[in-house]
Amino acid sequence: MGTGQSSSSPVVGVDLGGTKISAAVVSRAGKILGRARKRTKAHLGAAEVLARISLAVRQAAEDAETPMAKVAAVGIGAPGPLDPSSGVLLSAPNLPGWHDVPLAREISEALGIPVYVENDVNLGTLSEHVLGAGRGTKDMVGVFVGTGVGGGLILDGRLRSGARHAAGEIGHMVVAAGGPYCGCGRQGCLEAVASRTAMERDLRAGIAAGRESLLPELAGPRLKRLTSSVLARAWKGGCPLTREVVGRAQWYLGLHAASIVNLLDPEMLVYGGGMTEAMGEEFLAPIREVALQHLMPKDSAPIRLAAAKLGDDAGVLGAALLAQQRSTTE
Ligand SMILES: [Zn+2]
Repeated sequence: MGTGQSSSSPVVGVDLGGTKISAAVVSRAGKILGRARKRTKAHLGAAEVLARISLAVRQAAEDAETPMAKVAAVGIGAPGPLDPSSGVLLSAPNLPGWHDVPLAREISEALGIPVYVENDVNLGTLSEHVLGAGRGTKDMVGVFVGTGVGGGLILDGRLRSGARHAAGEIGHMVVAAGGPYCGCGRQGCLEAVASRTAMERDLRAGIAAGRESLLPELAGPRLKRLTSSVLARAWKGGCPLTREVVGRAQWYLGLHAASIVNLLDPEMLVYGGGMTEAMGEEFLAPIREVALQHLMPKDSAPIRLAAAKLGDDAGVLGAALLAQQRSTTE
């Protein structure tokens, strides 16, 4: 650590997404002291995005009235795959043209402080474990259902990265062998049957086939706004097509939850992402029920399946926790 820093110095967490960069100065107690947000502008190339990340960190520090010299470290959550030990982003579907970008080194050189990088969904899981729904658990699994399905594993109180840094790729567990094609090119992954993208595909097919639905009214004539909150409204309004499609996704998520529990028997599964935020317990209850029907041993105690609590802040808080943990252990 340089001068002016101590074990109580704040850190900065950065959530690097395909459309926006969020940065927050976070105290050792997990409190957000200042923030900044910038558009990613990925089309301008990696060098421009790197400059925007550094700028977001500096602006968050200004917002928190914390001089950069007092910031102990920066953590960045990035869409993978990446190598957390070297901080190199290998590629990223949301950041076209990014291959083998030494993200940690570049930002560290620009700011003059240590920078650590980890998969964004792993960091969402980490923050839910330390500060959110999974507080106090030893073993916890995060499941984030959005345009894709991602996850993270906490085992023995620590984020598990895996032998190939690929632990927690739960969206590509096959739950419907021979089923619909997934973005990864294979068939029947959870993501291909339970992500919002998968639900959207099935809803559009249903509307095209003339099925009765509230969606044309709620989402506009060409179903332009099929967001999670629109789906939640259609579901609450009793739209038969939405009930069927969301129900099918919940069925697969339930089978998936049972497989996770049969493998790991964690204390809790924490669900985040747009659908959980929009529907809450109504999204989770059917998943829990299906999971319970597929557990071993039969008639075992109910599993804890909870909604994530940190919402949009999960990313920056998880990145800050990464910076705290790695800057004190290295
Ligand atoms: Zn897949």
